[in-house]
Amino acid sequence: MPKKYHIHAKVTPLNLDYVYKFKIERGENCINCGKCTKVCIYEAHKRGKGGDPRKMADPNTVVCRNCFRCIQECPRGALEKSLDKDYLNIGGSYWKSDMLITLWKQAEDGKVPVTGAGYRGPFTGPGFDSMWTDMSEIVRPTRDGIHGREYISTSVELGRKLNHLSFDECGNLLSKIHDTIDIPIPIIFDFPEGNLSPTVKVALVRAAAELNTCIVLSPDHIAADTKKYIKNIIPLISHKEIDKHQALIKSVRMVAIDYKDEVLNSLPALQNKIKKINNVLTIVRVPATKSVEGLVAQLAQSGAEIIHVVADYCGMETGSTGTDRRLAKDIIRAVHLKLVEDRIRDEVTIIFSGGIAMAEHVPKAMICGADLTAIDLPLLIALGARLYEEPEKIILFPEGLEKISVRTIMHRIVNLMGAWHSQLLEVMGAMGIREARRLRGETGRAIFFEEIDNDTFGKLFKKEKL
Ligand code: SF4
Ligand code: SF4
Repeated sequence: MPKKYHIHAKVTPLNLDYVYKFKIERGENCINCGKCTKVCIYEAHKRGKGGDPRKMADPNTVVCRNCFRCIQECPRGALEKSLDKDYLNIGGSYWKSDMLITLWKQAEDGKVPVTGAGYRGPFTGPGFDSMWTDMSEIVRPTRDGIHGREYISTSVELGRKLNHLSFDECGNLLSKIHDTIDIPIPIIFDFPEGNLSPTVKVALVRAAAELNTCIVLSPDHIAADTKKYIKNIIPLISHKEIDKHQALIKSVRMVAIDYKDEVLNSLPALQNKIKKINNVLTIVRVPATKSVEGLVAQLAQSGAEIIHVVADYCGMETGSTGTDRRLAKDIIRAVHLKLVEDRIRDEVTIIFSGGIAMAEHVPKAMICGADLTAIDLPLLIALGARLYEEPEKIILFPEGLEKISVRTIMHRIVNLMGAWHSQLLEVMGAMGIREARRLRGETGRAIFFEEIDNDTFGKLFKKEKL
C-alpha cells in the first residue's frame, strides 16, 4: 500500500481585521452569573473583565460556532447576536459571504468547519449548488478514510494516456507509453491576478511544494528565491517564446501555453519543440467560451496532453455577457461528454478552473468530468483578503499583510488545502470511491436538480405545443 498522503495542518491565526457573521454582545442587564461560560463549549464566554474575575469579559466572537445556546440559556436575556454589517457587504451572488468566512476558518486551523446551528441554506441553487453527491456508502461500518482504516487515494495523474495497447505477433509491446506526472491532490494553484507582494508569491510557491502539487506562474513572477521549488512551478509562456525560455523549460516538469488560433494547427510541432528542450508535459490553457467543448475536442485530436479550461472567477463562460452563459458544472459536463462522444476522453487530462470556491466544488467538478481543478482566489481569501463582486470585482487585502511572514502565509494555504483534502476524503468515503481518478465523470453517482425536477414535474408543467 502506498504511503498515506497527509497534510500537516498547524493552527495559524492572522491577527488582522476579520469579518464575522454574527457579533455577540453582552448587555448591561448581565448579572455575571456565569451560566454562559458553562454552556459554551467553545469558550466564547469567560470571566475577567478588566482583571476582575467577578465580571464577565466581552464575548469572543472568533471562536463562536453560532449554536445559539448561550442566547437561549441566559436567565436575563442579556446576550444578543446580530449580523455583522461588513459580513452583509462582502462577497456577492457567487462568492457568498459565508464562503469567505468558511475559507478564512479553514486557513486558520485546517479543519472542516463546524456550525452549531446546522445547515440553514437552500437545498438547491445555480451551478454546483444544483448537484448532490450520492453518499449511500456513508453507513458502511468500515468507512473511514480520514482515520486510516481504509486507504483512499486522492492522487491524480496528468498527461496523455493510451486508450489501448498494441503488441506484435510475438507479444512485444509496440505502443509507446507516454510519461505522466502524479500529484497527490486533484488541485493545482493558478497564480491569482493582482499585484501580489514578493512575500505572498514566495509563500504560494512554497505551499505548492509543501503539498507536492504545482503552481502556474508566468516567468516574470518566478523569483530567484523560488528556484529551489522549480519542480513545483508550471511556467505559463506564450507559444512564440519557447526559444526564449529554454533554460526555464529545462528545469521544470510541465509547461503551460496560452491558447491562440495558431496553436491548434501547430500543436504537435509545438509539443515536439518543447520535448526536444526537455521531456516535459505541455498544458494548453483555453478560455471557457461558448464553443469550448469543440475546441477541446480538436486539441485532444491533435495530440494535446493536458488541457486547462479556464472559466471566469464565478465559474461562468467567458467571451460574452449574456444571461444564458453556462456555469462550471455545465461547461465541464459539455467538455467531458464531447470527448466521450469522440472516443478520446481517456487520452487527455482536463484541468478546470474558475469558480472553484469551496472544498465540495473539487469532487463536484471531477464528477462532472474534470480530472483535476485549479484554484486561485481561495489562495488569497486564505490570507484574509475580502472579495467584492459588485459593482465590479475588487479584492482587498487586510492591512498589515505585508508584515506577515512567508511561513505564516504558507501554513495558511497548507491548512486550507488540509481542510479541502479532509472533505474530499469524506465525500469519497461516503460515496464508496477509493481512488480520486474514479470520480471523473461519475455522474451516475450524483443527483442533478434539473434532471429530477424535469423527471418529476416536467410532464405536468411542460407547455403544450399549440
Ligand atoms: S448567562 Fe447571561 S446573565 Fe449570566 S453571565 Fe452570561 S450573559 Fe450574564
Ligand atoms: S452561540 Fe454557541 S458557540 Fe456561540 S458563544 Fe453562544 S454558546 Fe458559544
